[in-house]
Amino acid sequence: MLPLERLRRIVGAEHVLLAPEEMFAYECDALTWLRRRPAAVVLPGGTAETAEVVAALSEAALPFVARGAGTGLSGGALCPEGGVVIETARMKRLLSLDPWNRFALVECGTPNAEVSRAAEPHGLFFAPDPSSQNVCTIGGNIAENAGGPHTYKYGATARHVLALTAVLPDGRVLRTGSPLADPPGYDLAGLLVGTEGTCAIGTEATLKLTPLPRAVETLLFAFRGVADACSAVQRVISSGLEPCTMEVMDGATIAAVEASVNAAGYPRDAGAVLILEFDGGDAAVAESAERAERLCRELEVLACERARDRAHRLKLWKGRKGAFGAMGRLAPDLLVQDAVVPRSRLPEVVARVLEIGREHGIRMSNVLHAGDGNLHPNISYDRRDADETRRVLAACAGILQACVEAGGTLSGEHGIGLEKRDYMSLVFGEEDLERMRAVRDVMNGRSLLNPDKVLPAREPKTP
Ligand SMILES: Cc1cc2nc3c(=O)[nH]c(=O)nc-3n(C[C@H](O)[C@H](O)[C@H](O)COP(=O)(O)OP(=O)(O)OC[C@H]3O[C@@H](n4cnc5c(N)ncnc54)[C@H](O)[C@@H]3O)c2cc1C
Repeated sequence: MLPLERLRRIVGAEHVLLAPEEMFAYECDALTWLRRRPAAVVLPGGTAETAEVVAALSEAALPFVARGAGTGLSGGALCPEGGVVIETARMKRLLSLDPWNRFALVECGTPNAEVSRAAEPHGLFFAPDPSSQNVCTIGGNIAENAGGPHTYKYGATARHVLALTAVLPDGRVLRTGSPLADPPGYDLAGLLVGTEGTCAIGTEATLKLTPLPRAVETLLFAFRGVADACSAVQRVISSGLEPCTMEVMDGATIAAVEASVNAAGYPRDAGAVLILEFDGGDAAVAESAERAERLCRELEVLACERARDRAHRLKLWKGRKGAFGAMGRLAPDLLVQDAVVPRSRLPEVVARVLEIGREHGIRMSNVLHAGDGNLHPNISYDRRDADETRRVLAACAGILQACVEAGGTLSGEHGIGLEKRDYMSLVFGEEDLERMRAVRDVMNGRSLLNPDKVLPAREPKTP
């Protein structure tokens, strides 16, 4: 039974939500076809309250899940059956910022972009930049090991987490990691990054801050199709140039963006655009941009723009950052698929993905973090239409299979959650999965925290 009075005493009655209409918002994350309504939502105000809430739920043997902003795209923050959502929205204080040692200590409900905003006056920023960064939380980023357009140069979240305070599923508090170089002992903070909220609830994180680059050059190239844009990426990388980002959008994405409030002036007749960016010192960045432009122009480029100033750069990015939002106009639901392949295989895999879309009669637009080989086939559909939803899911299965066959894997950044749990055996053997379950069991032995995510259930033993 829900220990209601105890929860109210810990966090204050106004921070325990129970009304059915309040539960609607928590039924799903940004993957809208999977839904489960929680029994209650609790909003603790810090590490101590989180520990007390978790202890109360653990003693009542009730399942629970941590939730940040709910922008996850794999159903990770869905509530376990009959369980409780622990939302981190009240935990968003910047606890300290140390420009000299280049780290920030923040509560895990802090929105990603707030960290860079606070660091900017010191000439620093927090490098992981998921496109949802204005709302998604540091806790969600850590759980998902989130990436973003600049992951190619700066790496995903794991490279930027120095230490973590987390509440274990029995209510004990774990403090692990350190901003000092190479702290001794096992790197438990590193272990927790990417466990998708199945081992502990992050409450405070010490994050590495990176110096803001002195100069940035942003270029946009338009091509006839995605294959040409990927060839450009290949040429740039093979030439030894080191861009910080290489984002590709296909013709369907350009059309959606240009018809929306996020219109960025992309050529409407192009089959693909590539955003290429260099950052670093002034002279090196300018030289790299010139070389990249020459290399790309040797291919059949329909148009090329080089940002003149910050306003122009933001305009070129506006379409990319607003691409998923623009797709929201196309249909009631959007499924943002996420997989990764060796980037040399991108042209053939994207061609196969489009073919799969046609075979299943679904509406698809593609966005690629091309430098990372990370593709996002985005499917616009209506989940109230059972047949369409069935075709969408069949197409997703085909896409994942095609990516794995091309030497890729199930997710480049959005995680496994509930959505892809049953695909894990495409890339892991039962023995590998069992080792992962053993790690989870050390932290979450009773499986009360986010019980049925990421790892498929153990196969029943044959007698
Ligand atoms: C428009 C849009 C664009 C996106 N772009 C990107 C992108 O470029 N790159 C990218 O990687 N992702 C992207 N995403 C996906 C999503 O924003 C990220 O996965 C993000 O890290 C989720 O953060 P959140 O706070 O919303 O987490 P939630 O959705 O609330 O939760 C996600 C998972 O993290 C767990 N979790 C949350 N907080 C904690 C905590 N404090 N402790 C332990 N576990 C926790 C939850 O249990 C759940 O399993 C995008 C999503 C949208 C809607």
